[in-house]
Amino acid sequence: MISIRNFVIIAHIDAGKSTLADRFLELTGTIEKRKMQEQFLDMHPLERERGITIKLQPVRMVYRPQNKISNVKYQNDISKIKNSSEILNFDFYILNLIDTPGHVDFYYEVSRSLAAVEGAILLVDATKGIQAQTLSNYNFAMDQGLTIIPVINKIDLPNAQVEKVEEEIAILSGDRRKNGILKISAKTGEGVEEVLKTVAEKVPFPKGDESKPLQALIFDSKFDPYKGIIAYVRIFEGSIKAGDKIHLIVQEAEAEALEVGYFKPELQKSGELKAGEIGYIATGLKDMSKVRVGDTITNQKLNIKNQNYNSLVLPGYQEPNPFVFASLYPRNANVALSATKNHAQRDDFNYLKDSLEKLKLQDSSLRFEPEHSDALGPGFRCGFLGMLHAEIVSERLKMDFGLDLIITSPSVEYEVKLKMKNEKLRIKSVSKLPDPGQIETISEPFVELEILTPSRHLGQIMKLMPECRAIHLETNYLSSETMVLKYRAPLAEIIIDFYDKLKSVSSGFASMSYRFAGFQESDLVKLDILVGGEVIEPFSRIVPRVNSYQEGKRMVEKLKEIMPPQLFNLALQAAIGGKIIARETIKARRKDVTGYLYGGDVTRKMKLLKKQKRGKERLKESGRVDIPQEVYLEILKK
Ligand code: GDP
Ligand code: MG
Repeated sequence: MISIRNFVIIAHIDAGKSTLADRFLELTGTIEKRKMQEQFLDMHPLERERGITIKLQPVRMVYRPQNKISNVKYQNDISKIKNSSEILNFDFYILNLIDTPGHVDFYYEVSRSLAAVEGAILLVDATKGIQAQTLSNYNFAMDQGLTIIPVINKIDLPNAQVEKVEEEIAILSGDRRKNGILKISAKTGEGVEEVLKTVAEKVPFPKGDESKPLQALIFDSKFDPYKGIIAYVRIFEGSIKAGDKIHLIVQEAEAEALEVGYFKPELQKSGELKAGEIGYIATGLKDMSKVRVGDTITNQKLNIKNQNYNSLVLPGYQEPNPFVFASLYPRNANVALSATKNHAQRDDFNYLKDSLEKLKLQDSSLRFEPEHSDALGPGFRCGFLGMLHAEIVSERLKMDFGLDLIITSPSVEYEVKLKMKNEKLRIKSVSKLPDPGQIETISEPFVELEILTPSRHLGQIMKLMPECRAIHLETNYLSSETMVLKYRAPLAEIIIDFYDKLKSVSSGFASMSYRFAGFQESDLVKLDILVGGEVIEPFSRIVPRVNSYQEGKRMVEKLKEIMPPQLFNLALQAAIGGKIIARETIKARRKDVTGYLYGGDVTRKMKLLKKQKRGKERLKESGRVDIPQEVYLEILKK
């Protein structure tokens, strides 16, 4: 066990985490060079296409410090190592790396990976310096008590600012000496061996006792059709063999370990997993909700009265919480796999349902429930961890299941306190909002937002923030040029296009990260849009009262642009609690019924026009205005 090192790489997106992992895999001979492809650990096609890590991926590597001698490419480093007074004690080290998704949406998964290791490589892009997610993950790793190894990457690039970045890291870590900050190029491999060596030297070996009852932390899971759900675990205490009876403590599930083993990174069966190790347990369970990230697996028989129960649960368990909601509808009635046109809509709905269920097997944080829209037919209201998660799910539905979907604009969840009953409701879609008369207060989710920016863009950002209802909390300097701004802001303002705005006011330099910070009361109202006097439910939204007039006006103006004219004048109105706050009219498309009457019989002309008017009135009474699907899409896009 003392030759095991468990670690993660934490970084802002694009700092080169996966590329560095590639070099590790090569250097340790974990992956043969001919099988190597870039960002090897990004296994899903979507990850490969977008160049991002969506799912975390552990890998076990065997590092032999002697290897360096035979490796001519890293000659320079070898001389350094030889002169070094620090001597590695073992012939080989087991290095367990967990490559984590850096994005805020997957904060919880990242937090569990951090809980599973003793060390973290803090990877900073030499051309960008410390960015928001570097900072938030760093603080987080510090809170977990991890040993942190700062590394500056991309030193091969001409615009690398190594000294500036060194300065930032020195300030951040409070270690002004700046020594020990490694400088590497994950691309060329320069300095990479030194990183592995430093991991072996500096990261503490895992503690734990093989003879104690089993305590294994689930930090991820995967569905396998044959072996059932595979729990990715860190063994803290005890050991486990295939065939052992296991208990998932929080979910109160029982199972048998069908197989245990390591990540190579593909699954490699082994006889046993022991305290200190990272590996997998095939549970045979089929229900993803039983194998939750953050839960503890033990081999002890449990019941609530058992006093061991509490002492065995590893800390930090949480249920995944969706924060962003959107509706999904199949786009065309006759695309994906539908047999006959008549049943096409139903078939598409069922196919979407199947696809969502299959996806949920791999992604237990996905939530969905059926919903019906007059305009768009049957569909699903879905809950996501955040915008990237929403995007990934819809991309997967398209790529993996061939679905063509309509996705409504994302919204958040609201907490409504009723006047009469002492009751709080959680509202996931605007149509479920009670009558304004019944509502005492509405609360919305807030986040604490951290923005890192070069100081020259400070003015622009300070101007942008109040527009997003953000409240300034504090400002700090990370270096003479880099500032850290903290704000508290409604999530609803952040999820739509805040990131793009921030990037644009800072010429791409500012970066951000955020954490959920609870529900808070806001002065919110339901804005309704009426077309021809009728409320069109899918257009309704919850907006801050202060912006409601402007937002209502914007929506009816936009509708006026995109809505095709009818045979009668069409009123477009915005209303709050029944009170009209904005109005536009689309002039009737006049069919020229008198065109064929040349000559001057005015009375006949009048008669015809009168007849036409009556016709229009009938039309208007009989009905609903037909709103084309494109109009819905355009409005729902925001
Ligand atoms: P991740 O998001 O942190 O996993 O970053 P990736 O490993 O996917 O790398 C992001 C981009 O930076 C890719 O285009 C890499 O090829 C590039 N990159 C990574 N490391 C280096 C480096 O040391 N030098 C250069 N020039 N490019 C690098
Ligand atoms: Mg990556």
